Amino acid sequence: MQITDPVLTSGWGNNFHSLSSRASASTVAEAQEILAKASTARGLLATGLHRSYGDSALNSGGTLLDLTSMNHIRIDRASRIAVAGAGATIADLEKAALAQSLFPPIVPGTGYVTMGGAVAADIHGKSHHRTGSFSASLRRMTLLLSSGEVVDYTPKDVEFWATVGGLGLTGTLLEVELELREVTSNSVFVLEKRVKNLEEMITILAESDSDFEHTVAWIDLSGDYRGRGVVSLGNYCAKQVKSKEATSKGPTLPSIAGKNFITPLSVRAFNEIWYRKPLKNGESSLTKYMHPLDGINRWNNIYGTPGFLQYQFVIDVGKEQIFERLFAGLRALKAASFLGVLKKFGERSAAPLSFPRPGWTLTLDYSTSIPGLEKFLQEFDEELVAAGGRIYLIKDSRVDPALIPTMYPRLGEWRAVRDSMDPKGLWQSDQARRLHLC
Ligand SMILES: Cc1cc2nc3c(=O)[nH]c(=O)nc-3n(C[C@H](O)[C@H](O)[C@H](O)COP(=O)(O)OP(=O)(O)OC[C@H]3O[C@@H](n4cnc5c(N)ncnc54)[C@H](O)[C@@H]3O)c2cc1C
Repeated sequence: MQITDPVLTSGWGNNFHSLSSRASASTVAEAQEILAKASTARGLLATGLHRSYGDSALNSGGTLLDLTSMNHIRIDRASRIAVAGAGATIADLEKAALAQSLFPPIVPGTGYVTMGGAVAADIHGKSHHRTGSFSASLRRMTLLLSSGEVVDYTPKDVEFWATVGGLGLTGTLLEVELELREVTSNSVFVLEKRVKNLEEMITILAESDSDFEHTVAWIDLSGDYRGRGVVSLGNYCAKQVKSKEATSKGPTLPSIAGKNFITPLSVRAFNEIWYRKPLKNGESSLTKYMHPLDGINRWNNIYGTPGFLQYQFVIDVGKEQIFERLFAGLRALKAASFLGVLKKFGERSAAPLSFPRPGWTLTLDYSTSIPGLEKFLQEFDEELVAAGGRIYLIKDSRVDPALIPTMYPRLGEWRAVRDSMDPKGLWQSDQARRLHLC
């Protein structure tokens, strides 16, 4: 066990870098040893695969505790319960589960997310309208507290819910226990529909909630920003498909002299091709469907050194007019997005800082080098908050801290539990300091 000299680390967006020491633990005893050496001045933060886009998994001046070696997975077929180390990935869990005709009911858009990262963000997937977020499948968590104690929590404990969506600020997750669902094959039936505008997209997504377990739409945010796109609907199906696993190592995109390949022209051309692509109407590999970008390693390199930000928010059903305001602003800036995704959320979890709640969630990727974008997003954030919306903190690196208590009205309740779990203030992150979370 060794704590390194400070090294430069960034989130998936590569738009925010910070210097911190690193230590890696593969046993509970090693994690306790690192904790005993950590200083409370800039603190300690557990990390996974750094798939969070902004500064949630950064801790400048402090230490990052890498848990990715704690990646054991055990599955009890009869009870459908999986016990997984905090560093086990969603992809590993899917593979182990599929071998026993089981599958995690809630998976995000990439398999390269650890159990620790999944709990700390209370992640959601294409099934949210049916299954809720990750915590809905969570039965137990084992946490290392700043006192050095190792404690088990279940959904009856307030500490459990403060840790769900708690951005690593309540303690270090060591192990989780999850309930898996039955599947009869490794495939999903996919039906895609091309839509001409946002109204059509919203109608189809809303109408498909009851018939499809997975719903999501790709939205073209380039050109005239009318919201044309492709709606993708899916159901688990019985037919076994032969295909290379999506999580096997694909090509890696190099960072060519830090060059940004995302220009309004390239995005427009890509979006045109994507809009016109042949539509699916049949079986597809479950893992490929769930994690479409995982075939390309480090796709975030295409944004070059300026990096990019992913902006994701949720807004109530009935407040859809806010999309028009957003599109008008982006159109005026000629800010073309390579990735735009619209999804309808279902019920919220009991966690005070969990992001998903009933409504529409829109996700956009933007190069940080677009002139005027930051100013526009600051104005839009205010309108979003006034309309009752909020942004997803695990993807954030820029929002005004003054807006957080309105976006997350249960912040005070969360803080009280967090403070009781970590009176020393050991767990820290750049994001927690920037947003005055603790
Ligand atoms: C391509 C792509 C697609 C994505 N799709 C989705 C999606 O569909 N839905 C969604 O909700 N999210 C999505 N995300 C975001 C991703 O799920 C989250 O950012 C997740 O938290 C990343 O997990 P990680 O293991 O990389 O954790 P990191 O990024 O390393 O850390 C994220 C947070 O988790 C905390 N953490 C990590 N490990 C532990 C631990 N052992 N104990 C306590 N805290 C810990 C960290 O302190 C930090 O606050 C996507 C990200 C990418 C890059």
